[in-house]
Amino acid sequence: MNTPFTPPLRPNTFKGGPDAAGRFGTFGGRYVAETLMPLILEVEAAYSAAKKDPGFDKEWRLLLKDYVGRPSPLWFAERITKHCAALAPRPGDGAKVYFKREDLNHTGAHKINAVLGQILLARRMGKTRIIAETGAGQHGVATATACALFNLPCTVFMGATDVERQQPNVFRMKLLGAEVVPVTSGAATLKDAMNEALRHWVANVEDTYYCIGTVAGPHPYPAMVRDFQSIIGEEVRWQMQEAEGRLPDMLVAAIGGGSNAMGLFFPFLDDPSVEMHGVEAGGHGVDTPEHAASLTGGRPGVLHGNRTSLLQDEHGQILEGHSISAGLDYPGVGPEHSWLHELGRVKYVNATDREALDAFQKCSRLEGIIPALEPAHALAHVLRLAPTLPADKILVMNMCGRGDKDIFTVAGHLGVTI
Ligand SMILES: *Cc1c(COP(=O)(O)O)cnc(C)c1O
Repeated sequence: MNTPFTPPLRPNTFKGGPDAAGRFGTFGGRYVAETLMPLILEVEAAYSAAKKDPGFDKEWRLLLKDYVGRPSPLWFAERITKHCAALAPRPGDGAKVYFKREDLNHTGAHKINAVLGQILLARRMGKTRIIAETGAGQHGVATATACALFNLPCTVFMGATDVERQQPNVFRMKLLGAEVVPVTSGAATLKDAMNEALRHWVANVEDTYYCIGTVAGPHPYPAMVRDFQSIIGEEVRWQMQEAEGRLPDMLVAAIGGGSNAMGLFFPFLDDPSVEMHGVEAGGHGVDTPEHAASLTGGRPGVLHGNRTSLLQDEHGQILEGHSISAGLDYPGVGPEHSWLHELGRVKYVNATDREALDAFQKCSRLEGIIPALEPAHALAHVLRLAPTLPADKILVMNMCGRGDKDIFTVAGHLGVTI
């Protein structure tokens, strides 16, 4: 990366970010239209106040317990562990593999954690309408779910291409009472849906809250979504203490926008013994144009109100990301990941479509868990990594979603007609 090295924001801590302007080193910030500024500042002020209010935290945690089903279990994946040990180049090696079961949450993924936090915030702010963007439809479904629960009208912007590709989720959102607006500009995918949602927000400032689905967007969204998702890593800390009496050695998570990864990593950032790997979508390979590895194959630029690493051509035009997994094909990544990448605190690797497909099938057969294609990328990396580590090492992978939504895609790739 050609940006100058930036030291941590507070000495000896990686958890200090962002600064008052919402910057993680040279990344993040708020690059928005003047008309949007008052709104962003209103969200920031409301979130700062909510963070200090024990009543807000209590209400959110009660929802997580009784509606979402938290804490999600920490599962020792014994057959995957044995499978990795059998592949170890040095006999006796093979790390112990645990899954954090975010797939067991209501709506089937981690997204609901941050959606409920944001909907409670919108209510505190007196907002009476919710808008959201969605790519594969997972964030749209989580938002539509929370809006049904709180009787709030919900409009979801979705690229017209994605509306075609993701009919089951479009139908789910409608069942939940949401309006789905197809966006036809650009390539008619997630990036365009996000642009449209931002435009719509400017025109409806009074009554509307924009619920963002990942650690992206202008400040305070990246930090706020991270804070809500940090429940994942906080639970892993005490669950691992109960299971093994110590910290894990390695954390692995898939990276789309990066919210499930930030949620797992953040509570451990200042524990130097804990290594972290983020797994981007390698598509057909990062040496081809067909991938979505924004950190491995991108350059810094500005998109959706923040400065981060982006897939772009030589003129700075944003390129379409490609991945077998619709949840990973966002052409950018949350700005905090760009910063952690520059600092070297987190290592970013990738897994191809083919490797993810293979891991998807192994997980189904070895653990009786059909994973979403997104965490199948993380698992593909675990299957490469765990066999090379000593047997006393403990690895935690974020099983951030269940695979029911992906069975048609997988069947197609395996040449099976359902
Ligand atoms: C949305 C989604 C992702 C990608 O988003 P992140 O912000 O990177 O977590 C990954 N996995 C699942 C199951 C998802 O639904």
